[in-house]
Parts: sequence; structure tokens; C-alpha cells
Amino acid sequence: MKFIETRGNDGVSPESVTFSEAILKPMSSFGGIYSPESLPDLGMAFLEKHLASDYKTMARDVLDAFEIDIEPSVIDEALNLYDRFDDCSPESCNPAPLVKVKDDLFVSELYHGPTRAFKDMALQPFGVVLSALAKQRNENYLIMAATSGDTGPAALETFKNRENVRVVCLYPEGGTSDVQRLQMVTEDAENLKVIGIRGVFDDAQTALKSLLGSEAFNAKLKEKHIYLSAANSVNFGRIIFQLIYHIHSYLELVRQNEISLGDKVYLDVPSGNFGNALGGYYALKMGLPVEKILIASNRNNILTHLIREGAYDLRDSSVVTTTSPAMDILKSSNIERILFDLFGAQRTKELMQQLDTEKHYQLGESELARLQTIFKADYCTDEEGKRYIQQTFEDGYLMDPHTATCFKVYETGRDKPLKTIAYSTAEWTKFSPTIANALTGETGASDLDALKAIAAKANIDIPEQINALFSKPITQDVVVDKDRIEDEIIAFLA
Ligand SMILES: *Cc1c(COP(=O)(O)O)cnc(C)c1O
Repeated sequence: MKFIETRGNDGVSPESVTFSEAILKPMSSFGGIYSPESLPDLGMAFLEKHLASDYKTMARDVLDAFEIDIEPSVIDEALNLYDRFDDCSPESCNPAPLVKVKDDLFVSELYHGPTRAFKDMALQPFGVVLSALAKQRNENYLIMAATSGDTGPAALETFKNRENVRVVCLYPEGGTSDVQRLQMVTEDAENLKVIGIRGVFDDAQTALKSLLGSEAFNAKLKEKHIYLSAANSVNFGRIIFQLIYHIHSYLELVRQNEISLGDKVYLDVPSGNFGNALGGYYALKMGLPVEKILIASNRNNILTHLIREGAYDLRDSSVVTTTSPAMDILKSSNIERILFDLFGAQRTKELMQQLDTEKHYQLGESELARLQTIFKADYCTDEEGKRYIQQTFEDGYLMDPHTATCFKVYETGRDKPLKTIAYSTAEWTKFSPTIANALTGETGASDLDALKAIAAKANIDIPEQINALFSKPITQDVVVDKDRIEDEIIAFLA
């Protein structure tokens, strides 16, 4: 399987690259990103075959279908990391349990990995693959991750002490929860650097993108024989591991006798950078019986407008802080791959350049119609989310504020009474003050007090790995203005 560029080829970069090249060096012509040239068709036979397989076996087969240029032993090592997820063992591994919440609503819990958010689903195996490739080539890589709170901890966790890879993680100061921040600033491996930025997530992401594209910065790295890569979801190495759990969640629904093989379902995805939803889109295109993908947003509802009106409009819009901060995003990077897949490279280049220069684009009528055959969208305010958390808790299910955003579009976005898989992207422990507020009405609690309040109310324990964070020493205390990022990184590499 080859990968090509979403904004077409500039005649300098190779016209197509292998999987390993696409993930090691993800930046391409005209600021585009690599996308698969075509997708394997899995069809019903694949689903049938894997009804009785475990997660890793099915995943290996999906990766095989992509014919990626990664050695089987590396793939095995990567997938074996799922054994570290809750309730998994080498004998039986289900890293993403599916829980029934209403008659036709099921939550696929993607947060059972080491950092308690769904980023582990992809970043855990991705870390192994990337480090193995770097080592095989005898090359050194710098991974730069901009995070709104969950990518950072997951990237640090997967790369810590891995050979030939160093990680720099940028986070918006004050833009993450205490638990997320502590997960980052208490990491002390020598190949990791965490930098707080005075700004919001989009500032961190923009700084990262401009560094990745900066000739001067790249020249400095070259001098030190270090290549740049990225662990954000623009890297296809993450997306490939994300489409797998959509297939898994569907199979779980069949295994639980809730649907028959071939029945259509809705996928309901809390979206920010659109990696999770893109995984669902690819799974659909590869033959998963999906009626539509419901896109849940918070008040940063740029995706709701895109899918309803075909307008991507950044004029007069600025990021608002919500209780689902991992979705506080306006520049949703993976939309570009959808545009490319639906409308081709030339149109994608045109639209993305328009977005760069004029801060908006408008899809044509027929383009919008095509988008709407696949997606439907709505957004959920913080108040609505809080009510969903509270009601759902009373019905016996504890969930985080990102997961809660799915409930709105579940109510408003479905035209057919089909079973729905909503994705839970974080454990309750990562956003405890919001949940405590929803459950007990208390406000202004610290993360630790909120954790205790929820644990008492729900009669559960605070997981040990979360509790331990509060007494770990802080080893990464740098917070800088945007214009100081480059210097910090150079100093770290010296
Ligand atoms: C990253 C994240 C999201 C958004 O996922 P995308 O793939 O970027 O759309 C949603 N919820 C949580 C908790 C996350 O960490």
C-alpha cells in the first residue's frame, strides 16, 4: 500500500511513499498530509472470520490487509502492548470493552490504557513501530507533539526510554486538567521534554506546524543528525490503529447478540482533530456496515457547521474553553483527509489554501451533499453535557464530559432506530472536577478533592496510577511564550 499527498505533489517530494516513510516523515508537498492511495476492502467475510478472534488477531489481519512495510515481529511487539490494558492478559485481550447504556446505545470504552484516555489505543503500538523503524535505519528522530491534554501523556508514556527517539511535548498552560498536567510534568526519562506554552491548544499546534515546516529549524536538526516526525493524529501511523477499534466495537455488538452481522449501526464520535472519526470513516469505506458517523462537538462547533452547511469558517471565531478541553479545537487537521478522499488533491489544495489565506471555505452544494451521506453533526454545551453525566450516572453509568457530548447527537442526529456505538474517550479520573460538579453540585474542587467526591458517590476506588500522581516530584517545570519554544527545544537537543 502506498501513500500519497492530500494537496498533490510538488515534483520534489516522492510521488508516493511507503507506510514507514509516511509515518517517519509525515510532512509533504504544499503542507499536505499523507493518505492511503486506496483502502483494502474487508467485506463481510473478514467480519465473519473475526467474530471469534481476539483484538490482537483481528488487528494483525487489518494491518496485513494494508500491506504495510513493517516486520511481523515489530507488529507483534506493538500489538502486545494491549496486554497492559485493564483486564487483559496474553491469553485474552479486550482493550476496548463495549458497555450497554440504553436499549440502543452502547459505549465503546477506549480509555483502558496506561494514561486513561483513548490516545493510548493508537499511541501505544505506534511508539513501538516508530522506534523500531528508527533503530533499523540507524536514524534519530525528534517527535513533537502539541497536546490539549491527552496526546501529551500518551506520547510521553509510549516513547519513554525508547531508543532513537526523543519527544518534545507542548501543552497550553492552564488548558489541561491537573491530572493531565501531572501525567506530563512528572515524566523524567532523559529522552523526554515537556514545555508549557502561554496560549491555547491551537497556538501550540500552530507553533508545532510552523516548526515542522521551518527550514532553519530543520537545518539545525540536520546538523545534529536528527529527523523530525510527529505523533499528532496527522500521522497515519496513529490513524491505522484507530480504524481497528471501530471494527472491534462492531464485532462486540454482534458478539453480544445485539445485532446480526451486516446490520447497520451509527458510530457516534466525540471529535476534535478528527482522528477518531476518520478511523470510523475508513472502516466504513473498508466495508463496515455503518449507517452514518455522528460527529459530536462541544461549543467549538466548527465541525457542526461544516457538516450542516458546508462552511468551514475561522473568521471571527476563537477557541472557547469548555469542560471537554480535548475537543477545544478549531483547526481540525484530519478533515483534510476526508476532503482529499471525497474531492481529490486539487480541490483539497484549493480549499486548504483558502482556509490559510482567507480563514474560510465553502463547499459546493453537491460536495456538501456527499459529505452528508456519511456524516451528521451536532454540538453539546457544557450545561447539556453536565445533565447527561448526571442522568446517565443515575441510570448506572459513570462517564467523562467528552463522552457526554455524544449523547446530544445521539438524540438529534439519528433518522433510523439503529443501534449506536458512542465512543468513550477518557476515564472519569481525567476530568473529575466537571464530573463531581455534575454529580454533587460542588464547584471549584481541585482534581484530587473531586476524585475523592466521585469515588465516594459512586462507591469505587480512585485508580492507583492516578492517586500516585499527586505525590510524584515535578521534573518538567518549563513554561514559556510561543517565541521561546524553538530555543527550548534546541537546548534540550544539545
Ligand atoms: C483527543 C481526544 C478527543 C478528540 O479526538 P480526535 O481524534 O482528535 O477527534 C476527544 N476526547 C478525548 C478525551 C481526547 O483525548
